[in-house]
Amino acid sequence: MFNRLPALARSLVSSHQQRNATYLILGKPGGGKGTISKKILKTFPSFLHLSTGDLLRSEVNSNSPLGLKAKGIMSSGGLLPDSIILDLVSSTIEKSGEPKNLLLDGFPRTLPQAESLDKMLKVDHVISLSIPDSTIVSRTSDRWLSPSINRVYSYSYDPPKVEGKCDETGEELIQREDDKPESVMKRLQTYREETEVLNEYYGGRVRVFEGETSDVIFEGVEEFIKEIGE
Ligand code: ADP
Repeated sequence: MFNRLPALARSLVSSHQQRNATYLILGKPGGGKGTISKKILKTFPSFLHLSTGDLLRSEVNSNSPLGLKAKGIMSSGGLLPDSIILDLVSSTIEKSGEPKNLLLDGFPRTLPQAESLDKMLKVDHVISLSIPDSTIVSRTSDRWLSPSINRVYSYSYDPPKVEGKCDETGEELIQREDDKPESVMKRLQTYREETEVLNEYYGGRVRVFEGETSDVIFEGVEEFIKEIGE
């Protein structure tokens, strides 16, 4: 099923020999995994952040063959095939140089991805973010960006000076394709069907965090990482 599994196994196993811990951040799409990950990296610089969503977006921006394939799937709210994701993760870890603590973000996202990873690398701790769907829907409809410089605005806490226009370039703000309401609903459904089950799969390794804002959630996450050690 996974054509490059042996290469992935080799790279993960050899990296894991020197890693301290592997954390996975799990949660609904648009639920703040990226924001919490950035805060973790700022406070704990020993982490290597591996976000499959970020890796795919950079492929899309560079119009690579993988990017061209990923673009349509991502904007419709679907998932890329497991084999492609495993190749991407494997090559990123191979290139990452000095192994550190690992923070997985957006991967694994399906049961087969988790089972493949578990054969090679132990996920030690799972940070699971619990956010209501209603918060996600309002948050994603609030987020707009300036296409040429990728600056992100939020109408509730960081609005542009002129509605709909970028402060720096004056250009028309746009919504990320996958932040459009139909795509958000599809991503939430995909999460329920494919990803939510990982909370059960990882069982006792899961710690759930709740909160109205990412600052509040991060207080708990920071305490947790300090408690168990980086
Ligand atoms: P979000 O969690 O907000 O959906 P991500 O940045 O994690 O955002 O992912 C964006 C999109 O990239 C996903 O909707 C999906 O299409 C694709 N993607 C990311 N990670 C994976 C993965 N592990 N397996 C399959 N598709 C993925």
